Amino acid sequence: MLHLVPGAGNESTGGDGADGRNAANEGARVDETPGAPSFRRYPLRWVLGLNALTVAHYLVGCGAILIAYRGYPIVGWPVGLAYFVFAVVQLYVLMPLVVCPGCVYRTVRGGRCASGLNLISARLCPPTPDALGFKERTSGRLCQNRLCLWSLVGPVPLALPGLVLSFSWLTLALLLVVAVLTVVRLAVVVRRATCPHCLARRWCPVIRAGQPA
Ligand code: SF4
Repeated sequence: MLHLVPGAGNESTGGDGADGRNAANEGARVDETPGAPSFRRYPLRWVLGLNALTVAHYLVGCGAILIAYRGYPIVGWPVGLAYFVFAVVQLYVLMPLVVCPGCVYRTVRGGRCASGLNLISARLCPPTPDALGFKERTSGRLCQNRLCLWSLVGPVPLALPGLVLSFSWLTLALLLVVAVLTVVRLAVVVRRATCPHCLARRWCPVIRAGQPA
């Protein structure tokens, strides 16, 4: 079933049923590898939790920018909203259009990756196993991995000038929250909870490059 990726067939042979849609497939284990089982279908609560964390991160970042420039709304609003739109679009539109079509989750019937973006991608475009988006997600200055990283850390450099112009403890606190959320996401959530269970990890250039996703 996982014909997009060479050698992926082993992971479709787990005892959870070929279509991965039975009740047990909430977090179904499909591959016993040393360390962690792969999930053909991540538990819904994981997917919702990860997306809630992501959107909260973007909102806090946007709020930090708006408050940092509260004395200069003509700067703060365009910058804050531009950041938020960029963050949402790069993750929920660009990623499903450019990267996800080449991902193994696009070929697993009933599959659901950690972020659920394969489901959005399926509504936007057909799978394209030979597309370079997945393979090259870590290559180049404007690769998807960098866009993703900027969506997480972007509020800090964007809000800092405003903080310098008119200091506010609230802005500082929000930027600290952004920093903490970024570290927790990259060091704990992604590395320990999502990547180790991902069907695509064998071929994922992010993991191969040892970069944060
Ligand atoms: S695992 Fe990553 S690349 Fe694959 S469908 Fe999900 S978000 Fe897209």
